[in-house]
Amino acid sequence: MSDVMRPIPFAALMEWILDEHEKYGSIFGVRHSVKYDEKTALPIFGTDLEAPFGPAAGPNTQLAQNIIASYAAGARFFELKTVQIMDGEELAKCINKPCITAADECYNCEWSTELTVPQAFTEYVHAWVACKLLAKEFGLGDPDAFVFNMSVGYDLKGIKSEKIDTYIEGMKEARETAAFKESIEWALSNLHRFKNVDEAFVKGISSRISDSVTESTLHGCPPDEIERIAAYLMTEKGLNTFVKCNPTLLGYDYARKTLDSLGFDHVAFDDHHFKEDLQWADAIPMFKRLMETADKNGLTFGLKLTNTFPVDVKAGELPSEEMYMAGRSLFPLTIHLARLISDEFDGKLGISFSGGAVIQNIIDIYRTGIRPITMATNILKPGGYERLSQIGEAFKEEKPDSPEIIDLKRLHDLDDGVSGNPLYNKGSKPLPERHIDKELPLFSCFTAPCREGCPINQDIPAYLKAMEDGDAEKAFSIIIERNALPFITGTICPHHCGDKCMRNYYEESLHIRDTKLRAAEAAYDKVIAELKEKKTSAADAEATQTHRVAVVGGGPAGLSAAYFLTRAGIPVTIFEKEDSPGGIVRHAIPEFRIPAALIEKDTALCLSFGAELKTGTEITSVKELTDQGYTDIILCIGAHKPGNISLEYGNAEDAVEFLKKVRSAPDTVDPGKNVVVLGGGNTAMDTARAAKRLRGVEAVRLVYRRTKRYMPADEEELNAAVKDGVEFMELLAPIGVKNGVLTCSVMELGEADSSGRRSPVDTGRKTEIPADTVIAAVGETVDTSLYEALGVELDKKGRPVTGQDMQTSVKGVYAAGDGRRGPATVVEAIADAARAAKAIAGISLDKYTDENTTKEITPLIDKKGAICTDLAASPDKRCLGCPSICAVCADVCPNRANVCISLPDTGQIEILHVDGMCNECGNCEVFCPYNGAPYRDKFTLFNSREDFENSKNNGFAVLDKDSFMLRLDGRTETVDLKGAERISAKAAGIIKAVISDHSRLLY
Ligand code: SF4
Ligand code: SF4
Ligand code: SF4
Repeated sequence: MSDVMRPIPFAALMEWILDEHEKYGSIFGVRHSVKYDEKTALPIFGTDLEAPFGPAAGPNTQLAQNIIASYAAGARFFELKTVQIMDGEELAKCINKPCITAADECYNCEWSTELTVPQAFTEYVHAWVACKLLAKEFGLGDPDAFVFNMSVGYDLKGIKSEKIDTYIEGMKEARETAAFKESIEWALSNLHRFKNVDEAFVKGISSRISDSVTESTLHGCPPDEIERIAAYLMTEKGLNTFVKCNPTLLGYDYARKTLDSLGFDHVAFDDHHFKEDLQWADAIPMFKRLMETADKNGLTFGLKLTNTFPVDVKAGELPSEEMYMAGRSLFPLTIHLARLISDEFDGKLGISFSGGAVIQNIIDIYRTGIRPITMATNILKPGGYERLSQIGEAFKEEKPDSPEIIDLKRLHDLDDGVSGNPLYNKGSKPLPERHIDKELPLFSCFTAPCREGCPINQDIPAYLKAMEDGDAEKAFSIIIERNALPFITGTICPHHCGDKCMRNYYEESLHIRDTKLRAAEAAYDKVIAELKEKKTSAADAEATQTHRVAVVGGGPAGLSAAYFLTRAGIPVTIFEKEDSPGGIVRHAIPEFRIPAALIEKDTALCLSFGAELKTGTEITSVKELTDQGYTDIILCIGAHKPGNISLEYGNAEDAVEFLKKVRSAPDTVDPGKNVVVLGGGNTAMDTARAAKRLRGVEAVRLVYRRTKRYMPADEEELNAAVKDGVEFMELLAPIGVKNGVLTCSVMELGEADSSGRRSPVDTGRKTEIPADTVIAAVGETVDTSLYEALGVELDKKGRPVTGQDMQTSVKGVYAAGDGRRGPATVVEAIADAARAAKAIAGISLDKYTDENTTKEITPLIDKKGAICTDLAASPDKRCLGCPSICAVCADVCPNRANVCISLPDTGQIEILHVDGMCNECGNCEVFCPYNGAPYRDKFTLFNSREDFENSKNNGFAVLDKDSFMLRLDGRTETVDLKGAERISAKAAGIIKAVISDHSRLLY
């Protein structure tokens, strides 16, 4: 593993393109090539432009293959990665890796090309000629209707240096350069490889690679230096020129207020860049002067809005002190700056846009007259370059108009629409952890992250597919194989499966929970009628004869245990102390969240295999059960003991007791006009929302020590409480309640710790809140008396210690649900119950596991890169089928350094990492669903012995036709193919496949 990139020679580059296209119809992994047959954009710099968008200067325009992949996907304006005097190794030493993190808004800590300037030049020339050839050969469009735009920095001295000047002059006229000659010569001597490219075409390829430039300067660059550079580029170099502006032109207050109001309050920065960067008063007259200079020279002058936004590294996002923000949080700043400048210039100053452009807004940006539009963050996310295909198709479809000068009204409307648009709002809570808690395997890594995020490993891809196929009965059968409570979980499950869903990176998670409920509603009656005949997971015969199980507690865990065991043929009796089963779900969670009718349906399902239910029966000793002949006892006793709230004076009511009263007899509950709920979890939200619905209640206030962002409640519950009108009293710590008044300490958030979490600090001030009733929702605890009577070993929190099978320290006695974990979720209760049932009955719940994958991967591959802009229209069709074809690391790698290899014998797809194409940017690590980094952890192909020896990655380097250097499990040896097979069939399969089918990788 090394961050040194090995550029691909032109012949090998073309070999790669032609071979891959012939075999797979793709170009550097881009399967959906956009073909333009008419222009969808206005010309620029006197050159036709087929489409007005493309990759911004950055990771997606560094290597030839990056540019070619963008071209294939429909991009036609390319801002080449910035060159500056410091380059190659010298620059590499200053850039810490990884350097990109784009899980949501993007941050990076890289700047200009990591190649040497001559290498960068060669890459750009190779890309130029290759794009021309493939435009013609594959009919992608007019070979002369795309634009390469240089980006140079960072000061005039450097730009005038011989190194940069040679670059600029070469880009203006490349005919005599080695890179151009090499490319043209290769094409001329390989005409037989093409169907549509002939000698005349090759000889007619323009050697004027670029006649435009974007000036890039460092923060703090003095205004006269910025002006001198732009004037030089126009007058001395004759280049159409854009000046890249920083969002700091907006002023600190505007930037801070805007980001705070959109939920990006965690983005840390002070005002120093705002003071040191170009100021408005200097900028406007300068731009006017530069416009005049351009006019005099018959050139175009404009602004590139904007550069990325410098912010502080606060939570270890990247190995740097400062990083640069881009993506959706930059859009509000960039579009507002475009507005201010356009107002100032009556729309007559041209603007090139980069700052959070995506499929959902790019047509509107273009319609304002702003063009071209470039992007990086968008194409660093899953789908990668293929996201450009969707944009290209949208431009073809819509053929949007774009005014000659910027349309101020349209631009104002776009800017005004920012605050209400979820695209630019972060949401009320930090993003959940998206990675699954598993190491990335060296081989066979495709997985279903949703399933891994689900405590009962629901076969989510399988049931989503069944619903997509319109087969609700099959979907429901798949669901109830592992889930005893489909209606309850289909309604109130916190659905953490969705946190892991790869579709979050496109628009939002699949609606997995809702789909479950729809399947249950559609199929329940039919399926339950047939259930008794369908014992889906029968226990072994001996278990049914020898086991008789007592379940203590008829809540979610108890009902689930009874379901799994009776379905397997084991007799079960549930002992429930209340007069009806369902536990906290039936007796405390408000009816408006889970109607009784749905609980009834789940209860009936759980009892449908014959479990006996004894209500009103409290068990106080396990002996009475063993005396009755029960062989196994599962304790599902819940967590009902009120949690502690330490008020200095006065009392707070317990939230669960309050909720129980409200659920059973709401008309009898009279908490007064002003209710205060203490806490920030889901129970606090339920309590506040339930109180809000009570007659006579005027205000419900929720008091919490931190801010909403740090509340433990799920975002969905929190948002529901906000919607219901619950008032959030943030940063208050309760002291005591007296005479209808709750007194609180006023807190403030202190410095962030290493995780970015800011702790509350007492300000010493106090405040008072009217409080007729104070309710504490601070977490119930487990009543340990039954465990203690039994002699069950308890942990420090008073919870029973169990093995993976849920068995306590007392043989034959199991614990499950809240009574084992403390207050938790219904689905975790089902998970415990399933484990105990598996241990007792020896059952497997894997009947449908194989149905999570399919061999029909083409329809899944077709979904990559396509963002759904109408979620309501296709609720079931968005699943990407991750366990069948993940390959996200291949999608998101800007350099195409992760490739899919189909094994010759089995057809199975494996990921191969190509060391020479990787610069360790870290982007694949961000999006790989595992807790791992594909660029470190996947089987790797090395260009040379030297690269192999400089790395610790498992992988191989081809030495000659039959021998390889191979490293597996850290052991290095030189082997022939047979030797590889002896060590690992998978490794041998990949090596064989590379040699037989992917020899283009051996450049
Ligand atoms: S896209 Fe489908 S398979 Fe992938 S995580 Fe989401 S629901 Fe699961
Ligand atoms: S393989 Fe990963 S780390 Fe390497 S260049 Fe690609 S995305 Fe970046
Ligand atoms: S991102 Fe790549 S390495 Fe990670 S699971 Fe998917 S295919 Fe495997």
